[in-house]
Order: sequence, then C-alpha cells, then structure tokens
Amino acid sequence: MGYKAASLTVDDIIKSISELTKDVNIVLCEQVAQIDSKDMTDDIWLRLAKRVNELLKRNNINGIVITHGTDTIEETAYFLSLVVKSKKPVVLVGAMRPSTAISADGPKNLYDACIIAGSEKSEGRGVLVCLNDTIYSARFVTKLNTILPNAFGSLDFGVLGYVVENEPYFYNALDKKYTFKSEFDVRDLNALPKVDIVYSYAGTNSHVAVEAFCKSGVKGIIHAGTGNGSIHKETLEALNNAIKSGVIIVRATRLPGGIVSKDENYEGSYKFIASDSLNPQKAKILLQLALTKYSAKDTKSIQELFYRY
Ligand code: ASP
Repeated sequence: MGYKAASLTVDDIIKSISELTKDVNIVLCEQVAQIDSKDMTDDIWLRLAKRVNELLKRNNINGIVITHGTDTIEETAYFLSLVVKSKKPVVLVGAMRPSTAISADGPKNLYDACIIAGSEKSEGRGVLVCLNDTIYSARFVTKLNTILPNAFGSLDFGVLGYVVENEPYFYNALDKKYTFKSEFDVRDLNALPKVDIVYSYAGTNSHVAVEAFCKSGVKGIIHAGTGNGSIHKETLEALNNAIKSGVIIVRATRLPGGIVSKDENYEGSYKFIASDSLNPQKAKILLQLALTKYSAKDTKSIQELFYRY
C-alpha cells in the first residue's frame, strides 16, 4: 500500500515488460500527464482527447493504450468514449498492485491492453478498459473494491469479453452511442461547463452544498440520491431553487445497480433529469458535454441524451 503514485514514466513502464515490444509494434509513446488519477482535471481530459483524436488519424496507428490510475479510470474512459472520433480501439489500463508488489498486476494488464488495441476484433467497440484479463466498456465499468486485483465490474450490464492466451474474445456489444456515433466534439473547447455532485444520506445537510455550489457558479448539479434517485425534502427545496436560477439538476443514485427511472413527482413537477443507468460521476461528464451543445432550459433534449449515451 505504501507506494507513490505517478512515479514511473510511460517509457519506464514499457521498458520493464520485455514481451511487450516483442509481440506488439509500439509506434510511439507519449506522456500526456503523470499524475495520481485522483487529481484528474478537465484540462487534462481535453488535452488527452485532442491528442488521441490526432493520433488516431495516422495510418500507422491501429489503436491507443492509455495507462491510468484506477481511481478515476472509469471517468476518463467514459469522457473519451463520448468525444473520440474514430472506430479504432482506445484501451485504458490500470493496476491494482504497485509495481514493487509481489505479483504486481500491471505488466499483464498492460500486455493485454496492447493486444486488445492491436486487434481488428476491437474496432468499432468504443473505448475499452482492461484489467484482470477482462474487457469492460467505458459506459458500464466501475471500480467496486478498494484493494483487490478484481476491483472492477459492470454489475447489471456485464463485461464485453476476456483476453485469453494473447487473444481478445468479445461476447457483448454496447447498445449506446459512443465514439464514431457520438455528437460531442471537443476540438474547439478550452474548458468544460462546471458540474458538481451532491450526495444524500439520512440526516443530510446537502442543501448547504447545493447552495454553495450554486454560489460558486455551477451550471449543473448531479444529485446522488437514495434508492431510485429520491431526494430528501430539505435538499429538494434547495435544488428547486437552483433550477429556478437556471442550474440543471440530474437525479442519479448512490446505489451501484438498477436505473433511475423517470418519476412525475420530480421530472414532471420540478424539471429534473433522470440519470437512467449512469452513476453520478459519469452523469456529471455527460451533463458537462450536454451543456456544450444544449441550453440548460432544454431539459427534454438533455433527458434524451441520458437514454442515448
Ligand atoms: N491512486 C492511484 C490512482 O488512481 C490508484 C491506482 O493507480 O490504482 O492514480
């Protein structure tokens, strides 16, 4: 546990795995950022997405692997899945054990990610995440455990496939819009609209957070509610005031499974948006991108996006 994140450069990592350069043609290695992924920012996302889009245009590049800390890997993957403009595979890979641990999982995960990125079978499947011999879609993967090597899962919606003996095997496809089917484009963006997340619990004081976020100038708030996205009555009043002042509110849930379905009490009377199956941290990303294209008043179009992406 006592490791220091972001210590190795991408070149150090590649050099440490001799099989990699034998079995995969690594055309180029770039260090876009070197951070502990808990410190991820919108600026790094925009830089990364623009660079990925540039590189994928090159004929000599079949796919891209991005090494990433596991803490926010699902968020970067989902962001890229909405803004990468290519059918070529983009694979994010992490490791649960540090490189100094006995039976570190990083080298095998990275090897598998390169195999996936170089395979024709992976084309058109959007942005993928690979750990523990498993291939996940960016849309549904989430980190479920703080320490175990099998920390990731897609719960209700399942994994896409496995990597076995240097070969990816796919069993599922994603029935959502992504990459080459996505309408979002970051080419001309230098910043993303500010959206924050408020969490609900018994005895909550979340209205304080809602008011503070509104004062700070947020354009949207994701409410990580109880059960089917339900909202404590005190928070409800603060969120309703936020809506009246032009802030858009999405009802997500703090639960790891199920969907937040539309509810007349919220979407009808108050003009909330239901998050469907996006967890709060991914709902935040979709709302940020939605607000680059639609006005906060257009709740109908934004609600549609939560069903399509
Ligand atoms: N703190 C690390 C990070 O997300 C954890 C990891 O690498 O798995 O950057």
